[in-house]
Amino acid sequence: MIPPEFDYVAPETLEEALGALRDGGEDAKILAGGHSLVPLMKLRLAAPTLLVDIRKVPGLSGMQRDDGQWRIGALTRHVDLQNNADLGPVQQAAITIADQQVRNRGTIGGALAHGDPASDLPTVLVACEGTVTVTGGEGTREVAGTELFQDYLTTAVGAGEVITEVRVPNFDAWGSAYVKFTRRAEDWAMVGVCAMVKKAADGSCEDVRIALTNMGSTPLRASAAEAALRGQGLDAGSIASAAEQAAEGTEPPGDLNATPDYKRHLARVLTRRALEEAAA
Ligand SMILES: Cc1cc2nc3c(=O)[nH]c(=O)nc-3n(C[C@H](O)[C@H](O)[C@H](O)COP(=O)(O)OP(=O)(O)OC[C@H]3O[C@@H](n4cnc5c(N)ncnc54)[C@H](O)[C@@H]3O)c2cc1C
Repeated sequence: MIPPEFDYVAPETLEEALGALRDGGEDAKILAGGHSLVPLMKLRLAAPTLLVDIRKVPGLSGMQRDDGQWRIGALTRHVDLQNNADLGPVQQAAITIADQQVRNRGTIGGALAHGDPASDLPTVLVACEGTVTVTGGEGTREVAGTELFQDYLTTAVGAGEVITEVRVPNFDAWGSAYVKFTRRAEDWAMVGVCAMVKKAADGSCEDVRIALTNMGSTPLRASAAEAALRGQGLDAGSIASAAEQAAEGTEPPGDLNATPDYKRHLARVLTRRALEEAAA
């Protein structure tokens, strides 16, 4: 439970942080809330030689509505997301993360950069078609959620790069829900589902987005279920029939808690529940 030795710096500007990352090379790691990285170090599954703590870098926390979207600083903690009801599925997912102690420290940028398919916020980013702003030595770029998550614990964020901001569209026109199934309260999701529903004037489904947690090595869109519901009524029958297709094309790995078949069953059941809640 004791990590290998490492150096530690806490730069006070983004430029200094990028410089420290550049000097530290591939073995330098950003430290944000520390609630994914430090456990990995204690288990000796990660052994960075330099930690670059970005918590003193100004301008990386907080959120604001701007031109039809939310701009959320990468250092914004789960507790702040949980307390903002206007954040729709981002708030609904943040509430389900672990316990209050974890939510008091963990950050949205850390959760997205870590790229764990069992995490909740990556699924929401994919469902709401958000982006992250990434800054490095080569400049700043915008990365779509669908391109950010490349494989298990692998993202498109390079070694010397920092996620500075997360952008998600505002959720005014959408109903949403995030539901997850856990073996014990406050656990990681065995399977989770983020559903977003936009109603047409006649009450039918104008648009729908569904994304799945822990059903593969990255968060996945349930495209077949979305196609089955788009343009249909939002009655219990239509929702149930669309939800039957939620696991289409997925190959979830089995683990100690669930076989692949059981996870597919959970995806169908949770998608029905999430769609019902979002449509209501
Ligand atoms: C007991 C426990 C239970 C948990 N349960 C859940 C759960 O149910 N659901 C869930 O979603 N999560 C859960 N988590 C994870 C928690 O949400 C973490 O806080 C989060 O995944 C990582 O955020 P962090 O700020 O702590 O990142 P850190 O641990 O500091 O960093 C994680 C990784 O991201 C990199 N990084 C951090 N910030 C940036 C940045 N701005 N730019 C680029 N790279 C960056 C780091 O270098 C590191 O590789 C749990 C954690 C614990 C300890």
